[in-house]
Amino acid sequence: MSNSKIKTFLFFMKDASKEKPLYPVLFILQTLITGLFPFVNLYLTKYLLEAFTENVGIKKLALLGTLLVVFNFLFKGLMIVLERNIAKISMYLSDYYNVRLSQKAALVPYSYAEDPEMIEKARKARGAFFIYAGGIEGLMNNISPIFSGIITVAGVVTIVAINAPILLLVAILAVIGSAITVWQTNRVKKIEVEEYPKMDRAMEYVFQVLRKNGIAKSVRLYDASEMLATEVSEATTSFSKVFRRVGNITANWNCVGSFVNFLKNLAIYGYLAYKLLTGMITIGDFSLLAGSANTLKDSLQDIITKIQELGKELSFLGEAAEYLSMEEVSHLGSKELKNDTIPEIEFKNVSFKYPGTENYVLKDINIKIHPGEHLSIVGLNGAGKTTFIKLLCRFYDVTEGRILLNGTDIREYKHEDYMKELEVVFQDFKMFSQTIRGNIVNGDWENPNKDLDKIIKMSDLKSLVDKLPKGADTMMDKQLDKEGFEPSGGELQKLAIARALYRDAPVVILDEPTAALDPIAEYEVYRKFNELVGGKSAIYISHRLSSCQFCDKIAVFADKTIKEYGTHAELVHKKDGIYSRMFAAQAKYYA
Ligand code: ADP
Repeated sequence: MSNSKIKTFLFFMKDASKEKPLYPVLFILQTLITGLFPFVNLYLTKYLLEAFTENVGIKKLALLGTLLVVFNFLFKGLMIVLERNIAKISMYLSDYYNVRLSQKAALVPYSYAEDPEMIEKARKARGAFFIYAGGIEGLMNNISPIFSGIITVAGVVTIVAINAPILLLVAILAVIGSAITVWQTNRVKKIEVEEYPKMDRAMEYVFQVLRKNGIAKSVRLYDASEMLATEVSEATTSFSKVFRRVGNITANWNCVGSFVNFLKNLAIYGYLAYKLLTGMITIGDFSLLAGSANTLKDSLQDIITKIQELGKELSFLGEAAEYLSMEEVSHLGSKELKNDTIPEIEFKNVSFKYPGTENYVLKDINIKIHPGEHLSIVGLNGAGKTTFIKLLCRFYDVTEGRILLNGTDIREYKHEDYMKELEVVFQDFKMFSQTIRGNIVNGDWENPNKDLDKIIKMSDLKSLVDKLPKGADTMMDKQLDKEGFEPSGGELQKLAIARALYRDAPVVILDEPTAALDPIAEYEVYRKFNELVGGKSAIYISHRLSSCQFCDKIAVFADKTIKEYGTHAELVHKKDGIYSRMFAAQAKYYA
């Protein structure tokens, strides 16, 4: 077993026993009892048979018979109790890892959410618990038989080695034969393991498409059912082919396995029958040795199968262990930041490329946002405006240069403290399938009524909330509640703004959440929001010029950098300026 697999095993052992210390204890008990119990049966059967032939009397026979029944009864009873408790804890741990993995997705840096490799890693991590492998339960269900098998093997090897060493050779040859069959079938099963995620991905894509609002419309408009059906059919046909091939090969090798088994039995029983008939062993020894040789072969084979399954399980769980150990944003930065004043923000010689890409998206950005200043960032689509905000939000680290908050590099601040400085409404903001209240307070359940009514009024949501059957406690959308209400685009924007206002951070950012509105409505939203923002710092982004007139400063993004910077009055009259041209083209909306 490779080093990384051992590491994965130790990771989950430590992790699961921290959560449920009884779990490994129950497994150790189960392992010991399962490993030792075969000897009780082997010896009691031997003595019982010998008692029969030696005519020892009914009393001794009855005693041995009773012992055999009682021990088996006890063993089964104990196993049921252990298995029930193990299953209970396994179920708990399964939920526990489900929650941990979901939480983890929210705790890793944002950049992972845009990185296909990381998205795949998260999928595989979940798959290790719920689709491709059996998670922690699967791990333990393979480990326990391996160790109990080792105990049994050690015992029967001793019995056989003392009484009929030649049978060891037979058992080992039989195991080699079986190992080859198991190895061959597992080799083809690996193809199945590789193919399954591909099919799963295609199916998930199709179901997502059918669910997602925007795309679900296109599906109907462009009659994409054919295309989606082809997608599903290609994925399932290729998987079925693999599945059939694996089935055929497995069946062939199973035949070979049965033949090896037949040869083994012939050799064991032939040899022992000869010894019995020539008076070299008793009928009791015959039973003990035949039983031991068979147990040896079965246990060894079980160990090999379980080791192979364990390998598969651990390679999936390895992805989960790696994912669960990934750095979390809460560990970024250590400097405390008191959120009691409005800060000064400065971008100093900042350049940026998205990880894994060649080209700069932003180059040599220099800008200072003074406390309380309202800055409008304008530029065409793709000019890098949102990227600028993502850097300010620490979603990505700058490639070159520094972003300073009150003179300190933002990377030095505790992540949690730093994020409290900002309230941002992004263009592609989304609401949770939650109550209105839940969406606005956004996890701040300790003090959920803080100014909620005031904020609902300020964001112009009062009439909507009053109209709804459960007011602010009405669920949004129908994903989790059939009765949930579907807000209109305008209502959604108001809700997003209410959520931002609730945070009450000293720096507020609107990154075109209004792009779907017409220019006049957009202008109104920005104007109103600007009133609500008051003396805080604000950054408004737009490829239209909605917010420029009431902002202190305007930065025009073009050619990956800030091409023009100044007040509206300064830029609007600049000859051949980008801003003056944009303004001339759009002036009718803002005059
Ligand atoms: P704007 O907000 O001005 O419309 P963006 O900041 O969204 O512009 O995008 C700037 C450039 O960065 C675009 O060329 C865009 O394709 C690219 N870009 C945006 N996000 C990513 C990403 N996650 N990975 C790689 N390139 C990206």
